[in-house]
Amino acid sequence: MKEICFKKDNIYISVRSIIAKAIIAPVFFLLLFSNKSFSQGSKDSVVLNDSHFHLTNYVQEGTDIHKFLEIMGNKVGRVALFGIPLQQMWNYNNSGNFAPTYYLASDDPLYYYSFTDAFIAMAYKSLTKEEQARFDPMITGFNPADMYATDHIKRVLKTFPGVFTGIGEFSIHKEFVSSKVAGPVATLNNPALDRILDFCAESGLLVILHNDINMPFPKSGQENWDIEQIKALFARHRNTPIIWAHCGVGRIVRPVKDQMAMLDKALANPQAGNIYIDISWTEVAKYVTETPEATANTAAVINKYPDRFLMGTDEVAPSDQASYLKILDMYKPLFEKLTPEAKQKLLKGNYERLFDAARIKVRAWEKAHVNDPKKTPPPTPSSGIEKN
Ligand SMILES: [Zn+2]
Repeated sequence: MKEICFKKDNIYISVRSIIAKAIIAPVFFLLLFSNKSFSQGSKDSVVLNDSHFHLTNYVQEGTDIHKFLEIMGNKVGRVALFGIPLQQMWNYNNSGNFAPTYYLASDDPLYYYSFTDAFIAMAYKSLTKEEQARFDPMITGFNPADMYATDHIKRVLKTFPGVFTGIGEFSIHKEFVSSKVAGPVATLNNPALDRILDFCAESGLLVILHNDINMPFPKSGQENWDIEQIKALFARHRNTPIIWAHCGVGRIVRPVKDQMAMLDKALANPQAGNIYIDISWTEVAKYVTETPEATANTAAVINKYPDRFLMGTDEVAPSDQASYLKILDMYKPLFEKLTPEAKQKLLKGNYERLFDAARIKVRAWEKAHVNDPKKTPPPTPSSGIEKN
């Protein structure tokens, strides 16, 4: 295009530059005040910080993170962001052209899909700094039955410094899932899990652990070995901040008898101050609001220990805000019974306190360990790692 200029007060002014400025100014203005910007006014309208959210499903597909920001809108401030560590295998010899996308849709195994961590990190890195501040990505792509799991977690931190805040949601005992995972089953008394939780204490990574409080369909009088093992696990890791997902209940695993009384006792233990509970998942909301008595008992414990509970959606790859936030409507009877302090902390305050503290510690660990070959010596032959 030929440049057109005219002379004014001995200064040549380019018509093209005037047109460009006329276009750029309003675009800049629009960008500044677009939906994606998150001003103080937007923060005031936040109703939830979501402590439990899966961007992708059991075949590693999900919602584009930019689209998810639109779904969050101004209602959700911050989100603990993760995929799902397990991939459902599509075995043509079994289901033929039917491609299963959920673990209950096929008898074929699930396997650990470590690339989920790189996928989540790259999704996060595609955001602006302001958008990134609204997410706390979590590492999930490790096998908790493997003594090498901790090495994977460290490798992810070093490959993507400045990104991750914690680990999870990962599962030990989960109805219908644990028995489908290829390889040895994960257990609560495996030293591999102790090694993971010890490293989280060292690095400050916040843990979101899924472990059912019982086996599905227990016979009357059946020993609940699971509950004793999780108590022992928590007792071995007093310095690791752990969010126990769903307080151990599931689709089929119902709350155990006197669960709220048991929880009351556990939370009163001054040594167990590192244990937190998330009441995410619509299945949990169903139990909590099943009867007025169940709602009142839950509210009483949350009001008594307002610093220990977090709200999350546990939604997987949602397509719109209504389906993403349906759990908030389900929990209305509970919210009505909470003190203003307990409600604020459950929905927003506890998230900020825990995830902010974890961010600071993990960034410090990264600073001390990334790009420092002295602190990460190569494996020696005595470590048992072969060269070929
Ligand atoms: Zn979940």
